[in-house]
Amino acid sequence: MPGRPPASNADAPPLPQQEIGRIAEMRAVHAAMLYLHNQEMEFRRWQREITEIAAPPFGEAARSEWLQQRFSTVGLEGVHRDELGNVFGLLRKPDATPMIGVSAHLDTVFPLGTRLETREEGNRLLGPGISDNAAGLVAVLAVASALQRSQVAPAANVVFIGNVGEEGEGNLRGMRHIFSSQPWKDSIQFLLVVDGAGTDTYVTQGLGSRRFEIAFRGPGGHSWSDFGLPNPLVLLCRALARFSEGAVPETPRTTFNIGVLHGGTSVNSIPEIATARVDLRSASMRELHKLEERLRECVNEVWSEVPLTYRMGEAKVRFTIESIGDRPAAELPESARILRIVRAVDAHLRIKSIPRIASTDANVPLALGKEATTIGAGGDGGGAHTLREWFDCTNRDLGLKRILLTLLALTGVNE
Ligand SMILES: [Zn+2]
Repeated sequence: MPGRPPASNADAPPLPQQEIGRIAEMRAVHAAMLYLHNQEMEFRRWQREITEIAAPPFGEAARSEWLQQRFSTVGLEGVHRDELGNVFGLLRKPDATPMIGVSAHLDTVFPLGTRLETREEGNRLLGPGISDNAAGLVAVLAVASALQRSQVAPAANVVFIGNVGEEGEGNLRGMRHIFSSQPWKDSIQFLLVVDGAGTDTYVTQGLGSRRFEIAFRGPGGHSWSDFGLPNPLVLLCRALARFSEGAVPETPRTTFNIGVLHGGTSVNSIPEIATARVDLRSASMRELHKLEERLRECVNEVWSEVPLTYRMGEAKVRFTIESIGDRPAAELPESARILRIVRAVDAHLRIKSIPRIASTDANVPLALGKEATTIGAGGDGGGAHTLREWFDCTNRDLGLKRILLTLLALTGVNE
């Protein structure tokens, strides 16, 4: 019976594919997409400006301020910064409570004093952090601006976020803060994280990591006259060797790395202290805990093998295991709405994309059981975390449209 859908489907929500086709056809959405295509030169200016503002971990203030001003300029409401420097701007729908978040991290890995000059070679922009994550910040700002100008009417509130503390020692502190404080903690239902360049992936699993600094301490002494005293460096190496000999599963993928080793003062001194930094990762929280457990056991075992007399008294041999990083592992269920939407958007835009496991800001909402994913800002990029970092602007607007359509499918759009 042509022209009449089967009765059983009458009340079913439209498939993401159909819904995305409908949204993309809307006049206002068309206008927004056109803006994203036409403003490329402006986006390049923003991107170079952002890149040239230093934003080392725990030093993002100047960049926060820049973004706050831009959020106001493009016409977002309720623009403000929280006590950590996270920046927020709203696209408000009166009476709607659910909130959809779109975020990009403000921080870079580059310490203060790094030369942050940018340059342009044809379609290619060069500079440290230009892709990770100046490109992401540009995307968030561009989409906010496009929606505002074209007067698209999302059916839910949207909060645009520039957050601090994603990289390294930042340890996701910006996102953790957002998801542990009101109103965001309860109101944000979905989070779309934009990080780095590209359109070819979406994150479905948050890679968990635990990082530790292990220290062995002892009385120390002269290599000749105190020979025989326990050597913290030897104890540490013994514990690490024992730990490294253990097996880890291939699925769920689980890894460990001993990245830094410190200790000792001279070749003819028994060290007083030796430390190591260890990075444990897994796609599964259970495996991560097991690995941590084994690390603790190995350290404790080696310590307990030290003769009792050296484990007592004033200058006794001791060890400490200090946590220096903790990112939760979590996974989107196959039935997740955000996942179905991203896949439908990619089919609509004829993008070939693959799911990816990564450690990003999305780990935080994912670990809380909320739906979140991380996608790229379009274009292409490389040399992340190096001074040779680059971003190629060719087809950036494809990535921006992908973000726009994903966001609008999440909020729904009123005609
Ligand atoms: Zn990044």
